[in-house]
Amino acid sequence: MYSADVNKIIPFSSVDGPGNRTAIFLQGCNFNCKYCHNPETRNLCINCMDCVPTCPTAALSNKDGKVVFEPQKCIACDTCIKVCKHGATPRIVRMTSKETFDKICENVPFIRGITFSGGECSLYPDFMREVFTLCKQAGLGTMIDSNGSIDFRKFNGLLEVCDGVMLDIKAYDYNEHIKVTDVGNDIVLDNARYLAGIGKLFEVRTVVVPELFDFRKTVEDTSRELAPFLRISNIRYKIIAYRKNGVRKEYRDFRSPTNEEMNEAKDIAIKNGFSDIVLI
Ligand code: SF4
Ligand code: SF4
Repeated sequence: MYSADVNKIIPFSSVDGPGNRTAIFLQGCNFNCKYCHNPETRNLCINCMDCVPTCPTAALSNKDGKVVFEPQKCIACDTCIKVCKHGATPRIVRMTSKETFDKICENVPFIRGITFSGGECSLYPDFMREVFTLCKQAGLGTMIDSNGSIDFRKFNGLLEVCDGVMLDIKAYDYNEHIKVTDVGNDIVLDNARYLAGIGKLFEVRTVVVPELFDFRKTVEDTSRELAPFLRISNIRYKIIAYRKNGVRKEYRDFRSPTNEEMNEAKDIAIKNGFSDIVLI
């Protein structure tokens, strides 16, 4: 049985896919997005112990050089996250697929399905496949929220038990994608085409940061490239306004887009054939 580092589980979420869902956030990411709102989800803890003495409720302790987290003592004050200089959090629980499924079952019958998010959940494909298989047997829907950096064609059996993928197109241009994330996007775009071709691309998302990359070009190229696949299955385009909350201080100088810029992005997607467009 596989296991994963679970950052948090939101029992009921209406913003992580269709309907009311349990959203499971896995720890660790292979991108370094300048506008990341949860930078503490990027890395695994290296047990430097800096955060342990700062916890006001002694929810953290040092056991043989490893941080031990006791969730029942945590008051979610976020002090440990603010102290950590490594883009990590000590509030991680290693869970097997069965333990995760048992946690999900506490929310049935109030959920339509589950969504794996992160961090970057596709770093744990075997774990997700096992949880999804259990969810399917229980009649629950299964979605993945991903940065698309790992080739979905190589995930043995995962897509068979996954209803759809919500994929970030952070920038369409290769060099701009590096500017936004420190990583190129050839696999991301291959994944977008592949998933759209098999009817499993539920949604693409672009965060609009006008001063960081050419958002008009990204929406133009993304919508033009994916429009032919709309005949196979609907694809939602979620266009998200950059907001500073939670972003690391060194990247907080970017401005948010204006309403006019957001509507301009929407109009570009409509012009290219998209009709299911959400601005947030
Ligand atoms: S968030 Fe929890 S573990 Fe972290 S410092 Fe606060 S009480 Fe301690
Ligand atoms: S969470 Fe961060 S500060 Fe705390 S022990 Fe791990 S690496 Fe160090």
